[in-house]
Amino acid sequence: MGLSKSFGGTVALTPADLTVDAGEFLVIVGPSGCGKSTLLRLVAGLEEPSAGRILIGERDMTHAAPADRGLAMVFQSYALYPHLTVAENIGFPLRVARRGKAEIAARVREVADLLELGDLLGRRPAALSGGQRQRVSIARAIVREPSVLLLDEPLSNLDAELRVRMRHEFARLHARLGSTMIYVTHDQLEAMTLANRIVVMNAGRIEQVGAPLELYDAPASLAVARAIGSPG
Ligand code: ATP
Ligand code: MG
Repeated sequence: MGLSKSFGGTVALTPADLTVDAGEFLVIVGPSGCGKSTLLRLVAGLEEPSAGRILIGERDMTHAAPADRGLAMVFQSYALYPHLTVAENIGFPLRVARRGKAEIAARVREVADLLELGDLLGRRPAALSGGQRQRVSIARAIVREPSVLLLDEPLSNLDAELRVRMRHEFARLHARLGSTMIYVTHDQLEAMTLANRIVVMNAGRIEQVGAPLELYDAPASLAVARAIGSPG
């Protein structure tokens, strides 16, 4: 609600109003630097808004600590703990939640298998490829089945085959968890196939919000047509 963010003189996000429905798969697209990550970080509580409010459900979370917001985030930069193994990274949110050792081990194994990390559980992040780090970061985010999952270009470092598999996996995950997904991507196919609604951003503004085919058929501007890949 009237959410905005400036860094010094740079306006990363002009006042924006956006309502995300519970259980919705919302995809955010737009050119580099348009404010996508800033918007996610505001929702996650990793940045203080310059103005405006953030409501999750009925609750005003504008000043709530990130851990109290009931959400998990996959960062563009992965943000893994370098001194922890893959298994410890994935299990970290469960340890914070004081789950038992056996439960943590079982759940880590399950999520690691899903993301094909089963053979890498003893490694540290420094010994992983970019795509493997990305998968660890996705595993850590979904290990607690959060009610809101924020994903900042989660598939950008994966090869084409794994991307397709993970795209289906996210669709399945969404169906299974019923969690709200807010998903940033540059990939038009991901946006068109995963989204209930797409948000197109440009230069810190929300240009258009709508169902994929709605935006494809009737883009409100050239920027939207470009972001969606419609003939305009
Ligand atoms: P990309 O697709 O490249 O990830 P983005 O849409 O996620 O881009 P943001 O990271 O949200 O873009 O950045 C939006 C604007 O805010 C950019 O102009 C960026 O330089 C600026 N910005 C982001 N974080 C900071 C910061 N901590 N300090 C100063 N400026 C920042
Ligand atoms: Mg970004």
